Amino acid sequence: MKCINCNQEIDEAVDKCPYCGNEIQNSVRVLTNEEKIKYDGVTIESESNEEGNQSYSFNDAMDGQHHIFVKNVNFRTSSWTSRLLIFLIIAGILSFLLFIALPVALVGIGIGVIVWSILSFFKG
Ligand SMILES: [Zn+2]
Repeated sequence: MKCINCNQEIDEAVDKCPYCGNEIQNSVRVLTNEEKIKYDGVTIESESNEEGNQSYSFNDAMDGQHHIFVKNVNFRTSSWTSRLLIFLIIAGILSFLLFIALPVALVGIGIGVIVWSILSFFKG
């Protein structure tokens, strides 16, 4: 790899550049604009558009720029959707009780009352 400060070819294992003394950081870090111009490795740039979608550009000195678009997952929307789903399930259960279980129960009670009154009429 090359030193981002002096652009000399250096060993990746070293902590400091032997030519200029610049500290070598192999982990991901934010480059200044000046460093970005000098740097010839792979850089990743992130920006978000007006729709809230994240866009990452991989800038590779060897084969140019690659773009990756990441659709933002909006947790507020997803929790709103799950709330709607729960509401629909509850509404389904309530409408089942109201339109099926309740009429069946009323009809059952009605038949029971009719049968009971007929039987009590014949018993005298
Ligand atoms: Zn250097």
